[in-house]
Parts: sequence; C-alpha cells; structure tokens
Amino acid sequence: DFRALLLNENEGKVSASVETLSADRLPPGDVTVRVDYSTLNYKDGMVLKGLGRLVRSYPHVPGIDFVGTVEASDHPDWKAGDKVILTGWRVGEVWWGGYAQYARVRGEWLVPLPKGLSARRAMALGTAGLTAMLAVMALEDHGLTRESEGEVLVTGAAGGLGSVATAILARRGYRVAASTGRPEQHAYLKDLGASVLVDRAELAGGAAKPLLAERWAGCVDSVGGATLAHVLASLRLHGAVASCGNAGGVELNTTVLPLLLRGISVLGIDSAQCPTPRRVAAWNRLAAEMPLDLLDAMTVEAGLSDLPALGGDILKGQVRGRVVVDVNR
Ligand code: NAP
Repeated sequence: DFRALLLNENEGKVSASVETLSADRLPPGDVTVRVDYSTLNYKDGMVLKGLGRLVRSYPHVPGIDFVGTVEASDHPDWKAGDKVILTGWRVGEVWWGGYAQYARVRGEWLVPLPKGLSARRAMALGTAGLTAMLAVMALEDHGLTRESEGEVLVTGAAGGLGSVATAILARRGYRVAASTGRPEQHAYLKDLGASVLVDRAELAGGAAKPLLAERWAGCVDSVGGATLAHVLASLRLHGAVASCGNAGGVELNTTVLPLLLRGISVLGIDSAQCPTPRRVAAWNRLAAEMPLDLLDAMTVEAGLSDLPALGGDILKGQVRGRVVVDVNR
C-alpha cells in the first residue's frame, strides 16, 4: 500500500484528499519508482484546481515532477536502486504523477539524478529549475554573453522559475534585472544576486510604441502577455527573450518591427517534451552551477496534505521561490 494525494471530480468540482491505495492501482508502465520528493509548479496549481482541462480522467494523482529510487524495472536503461528524476511528459496530467509514495512511468521519460545533487535539491529545482536552465542555455546558444551590453531581465522573478533564473544568471556573472510585483521581495531578490529591481507594473502595460528605448541584453520571461510585448520592444539590438511562461496571460499583441529592425528573437522554451540529451545536459549544468546556498534559501518544505492550499497560492502568485514536497511526511 502507498499514500497518495488523490483528486476526484464531482459535477465539475475537483476535490483532493490524502488516501492509502493498494499497489495494483498504479498505472501501466515499465519502471516503478519509490518516490522521495515531489514539488509544486504553476502547472500543479492548475491541476490541483481542475483548470485548463489538463486532467481528463479522475480519480487522478497529480504532481508533474518527482525524484526517487527505482524499485522494479523492465526497461533496459534502469535497474532497482537507480536514483531517477522525472519531469514533464504530461505525467501528473494525463498520467498519474509524483504526489504519492510510488509512481509507475515509462523508462524513456526518466533521467539519472546527477552526481553531486541530493534528491531533495533536485526537487527544489524541479520543472521550474530545469526550465530556467533551458532558458539560460537557449539565450547563450543564441549569443548572450557576460560582455553583452545591458542587463538580463527576469520577469516573475520572485516565483519559482524566476528565482532559479535570477540565481543562475547572477552567479554566472550577468547583471540581472529582476522584475516583481511584490516589493516586499526586493531584499530576497537582491540576495539571489539581482543588481536592479524593476516594478512589474513598468512592463505589464505592454509597449506604447513598437520600439522602446533599447535596454535588455536578453530576458527570461515567465509572465508572457503584455509583459512579453513590452520586452520585445525594449530588447537591445540582436537580443533574445526565452519565452517560458504565461503567469500574466497568453495573448501577445505586438508588431514585427523589433524582429525586423533590431533582429530580436523569441526563443520558445518547452521543458515537458525536451529531448533527453538536452535534459540531461541541463540537469548536469544545474548540478554544477546552481548555487546551493541560494537554492536552499529559496526553498520551503511541505507535505501531501498541504498541497491543495498551496495550489491556490501559486495561482495567485503568492508562492515565493520553490516548494519541495516530502511525500513521506
Ligand atoms: P510561480 O512560482 O507562480 O511564478 C510565477 C510568477 O509570475 C509569480 O511568482 C509572480 O512573480 C509572477 N506573476 C504571477 N501572476 C502575475 C500576473 N498576473 N502578472 C504578472 N506577473 C505575474 O510559477 P512557476 O512554476 O515559476 O512558473 C512560471 C510560469 O512559467 C508559469 O506560467 C508556468 O506555467 C511557466 N512554466 C513553463 C514551463 C515550460 O516548459 N515552458 C516550465 C515551467 C513553468 P512576482 O511576484 O515576482 O511578480
């Protein structure tokens, strides 16, 4: 038997409760994992609240990420005792996820826990951290360097993705401009390494003109919507934005002028179906480059029964940094 957070649906309303399930309830798959930790991402908030039609079939076990130890495997890449990470692949949406003491998935979705990274810290990073690193990699592949003129802007900086992006970029020697709607988090963002703080409202109105003053060398954007429109109009010549999120909206009203007259690029970031070699590269870079003192400082711990309330909090933009979920607590 194992404990899990189970979602049920009744007349369109989703409810959650911690329940004890027998092992034969685990879904089909070739690798069974004893889960140590999961985490809370924005998408988990949507699943916990039944939003976005992400989950089509109930009862459902949410949790888009987990880390744990292989208990049994019919997959050639994995054997009992291996430490593995799962993020994305619609686990926790279409498939049962990590808010449980056991999970069963397809072996091809797993990556090894990198050497030097503890299981708990892997989930302190989670999808949010992986995505932040994929964004930094995309910007650097595009040509961003420490010598590029201007600051690198991070939007939604006090959130999970934004906190990790701020810390990684600052530790790599970039000047980071952190945008937040929570002035009470300015000291926190300075501690993560931000050089400049930008009021969310400065960006949230979109762009008054197709081209604004050139300011940012690059941007990791977790907000989208009118904020992204503003970013496109204010990137410096040949700069790029890694578009990661939509916490502020999905619609994009802009013009092609920043693309044509300044050579601006929009780099789309998808962590959920990111090919395994790039995932492994990103995890290895996280293990090597993520400042662990800062990671610990941005992390709080929760148990399975805390998740329904936390799901509401993250959708309201009230979670700071990252939440690690101890599924055995
Ligand atoms: P999160 O912790 O909730 O961070 C989102 C942050 O955005 C909030 O903390 C807040 O930061 C800001 N924000 C919230 N509502 C806003 C609004 N209405 N207008 C402007 N800013 C707002 O969530 P997360 O897990 O880091 O995810 C961030 C975003 O990235 C989400 O949209 C998520 O779906 C997306 N994401 C995408 C991928 C991918 O593969 N593409 C992977 C992970 C996450 P401040 O308080 O500092 O302003």
